[in-house]
Amino acid sequence: MELKIENLHANIGTKEILKGINLSVSQGEVHAIMGPNGSGKSTLSNVIMGNPKYKVSKGKISFNKKNLAELRPDEIAKLGLFLSFQYPFEIQGLSFSKFLHAAYKNQHPLEAMSIMKFRKLLAETAHQLEIKSDFIDRELNVGFSGGEKKRAEILQMLVLKPKIAILDETDSGLDIDSLKLVSEAVNDSRSKEFGAIVITHYKRILNYLKPDFVHVMHDGKIIKSGGIELAEELEEKGYSEILKKSGVKVLEVNEK
Ligand code: ADP
Ligand code: MG
Repeated sequence: MELKIENLHANIGTKEILKGINLSVSQGEVHAIMGPNGSGKSTLSNVIMGNPKYKVSKGKISFNKKNLAELRPDEIAKLGLFLSFQYPFEIQGLSFSKFLHAAYKNQHPLEAMSIMKFRKLLAETAHQLEIKSDFIDRELNVGFSGGEKKRAEILQMLVLKPKIAILDETDSGLDIDSLKLVSEAVNDSRSKEFGAIVITHYKRILNYLKPDFVHVMHDGKIIKSGGIELAEELEEKGYSEILKKSGVKVLEVNEK
């Protein structure tokens, strides 16, 4: 199955943020998206998942030929798409295990799993990520450290088993050991049935994940695509060189 984004334009209010994105991601592939702050990477993730804050003004997003623009986020998730938030929300009064059990039942209605069995699955997966077992009875993300929130997002991914996962800077704020655990978890998920879009600023996670494609986003567009060598070039030279080569006018700091 393929997530296909064609000439996608999207706005917040009257401000156009995405200005013609083209990207196809199939199950089995890992795509990295890099790019300066404010390029629209998180906006793209949110638009794919149907966040109603954003309006698609032109273009199309489909998954397995279904038009996502007409669907609610829970319907999009049910098709097998998953987003690990850059900034996970804290929700007081909602226990992590109840939240995830509800999501699981919505997405896998045929695999009736009792709460007891589900909690066992959660505990095992938490153990794999070295997440403390009391986590699953805590309120969703409330009081979790930055790194714990990110690991909790990956725990959700492992349990929900999406077809395509979008990881929005999941590696930011992780210490080296957590980064390794998260990367290993994503690698273990890799199969013909699993694809991912990994948004990151750092080559380190890409060394573990070995993406099939690397894209550079700038000002609402993908301005360059390549392989892992593109991430290497970026790490060495920074964005400005690649932007210049791609014909983007780069303002000097004092030119603004
Ligand atoms: P990235 O994830 O690449 O850093 P974002 O998608 O978060 O970029 O943001 C892209 C642009 O959209 C930025 O200029 C940001 O200020 C703007 N933006 C994001 N959310 C909002 C919002 N709610 N209201 C107005 N502008 C926004
Ligand atoms: Mg972002």
